[in-house]
Amino acid sequence: MHSPTLLILAAILLVMVTTVLYAVWHFNRQIPGLRLWMLSYLFGALFSVHLLVREHLPEVVSVLLAQGSVSIAGYLCLLGSRAYMGRGRLWHGYGVGFIVLLVGASVYFTVVQPNVGLRFLLASLGVGGFYLLTARTLAHGGMQAYPARYLLAIAAATHGVFVLLRPLLFRLGGVLAPDADLIQALSQFVILEAIVALVLIAFCILMLTNEFTTSALRRLAEMDSLTSVFNRRAFLTLLDKALSQARRTESELHVLVIDLDHFKRINDTWGHKCGDDVLRHFVGLAASCLRNEDVMGRLGGEEFAIVLPNADAAGAAAVAERLRTLVASQPAMTEHGPIALTVSVGVTQCVMGESSETALQRADQAMYQAKQLGRNQVHVQGAPAAFVAG
Ligand code: GH3
Ligand code: MG
Ligand code: MG
Repeated sequence: MHSPTLLILAAILLVMVTTVLYAVWHFNRQIPGLRLWMLSYLFGALFSVHLLVREHLPEVVSVLLAQGSVSIAGYLCLLGSRAYMGRGRLWHGYGVGFIVLLVGASVYFTVVQPNVGLRFLLASLGVGGFYLLTARTLAHGGMQAYPARYLLAIAAATHGVFVLLRPLLFRLGGVLAPDADLIQALSQFVILEAIVALVLIAFCILMLTNEFTTSALRRLAEMDSLTSVFNRRAFLTLLDKALSQARRTESELHVLVIDLDHFKRINDTWGHKCGDDVLRHFVGLAASCLRNEDVMGRLGGEEFAIVLPNADAAGAAAVAERLRTLVASQPAMTEHGPIALTVSVGVTQCVMGESSETALQRADQAMYQAKQLGRNQVHVQGAPAAFVAG
């Protein structure tokens, strides 16, 4: 294929992809990073359009445009991935300084000490580095849970490595067969790789927006909007999963049911909004008592439940007691001043083969027992010994 044809193809594709990304961003502005990725493609498109007209430009202008646009495109791609991952903003001084240095050096190797090879090396190092950093930023959270994110990371890493190796490729080509045909073929190959990689990366970005929306919807369906813990349905599903896991691994599984004492009084005295603040305060305290693998849910109203995988009876009772004392010792700080709070906790061990509902029912009974015994206490309800899981 003719190089000019390839360049026209690259320009058309990049302009098209930028337009598509613009449209997707326009309708999904809540997705972080999308705008920066769209802008990254805009600079990529600018670069490819510049390639079509560069023969009519003074060399230094062409170098400025080329080096500037590709470095900014790479940097914006990295910034997009950081925004998507919720990472803090980079201190722009570093990024901008690096780009100014790259562009400045390229101008130096054009005007003062012309050296096309070094210019190419600089461009490759800059852009390749940005794509590799993009990949590193995105590769978090587990392949299973976020396949589109990892696909994008792989595509960015592959492109980054290729871009870094480009100067070596030309060097090798020059040594093996120093004729113009081979260099021409290599140039075409490089352009072709860029087209394929950038279109692939754009596809991955589109898949990522889908993944983001799906997980946001799932979150909405699974989470309690007031306290951001699992809602009853999601909690029961997770408890069922924990039950079968405990059966498979023959390990113990305990469940806690926690009810806020005299919560109605708080609502009646201070108002519903204050009651909501107290609920959130309680959840914050509870979260500080739990390990990563423990799961908490809001069963409804002011009743919560916690699953404790791999905790024995003494461990579960200790967690319950720690939570009870913590809540009793830390009043909720509200606009009406500190509001004291206590909880009654029911603890039970899950039984092999029982459903999540049955296990919860027994923990609930234990919790009511704690209420009857005077509230602000933990009551442990043993499971029938013959059926204990594990
Ligand atoms: P006990 O110690 O026996 O549990 O007494 P209680 O007052 O906590 O129990 P009761 O079931 O009588 O009252 C629960 C109250 O919780 C009644 C209801 O208005 C309130 N409630 C339920 N959901 C919410 C909510 O989302 N926000 C607020 N602020 N209050 C809620
Ligand atoms: Mg209550
Ligand atoms: Mg209740």
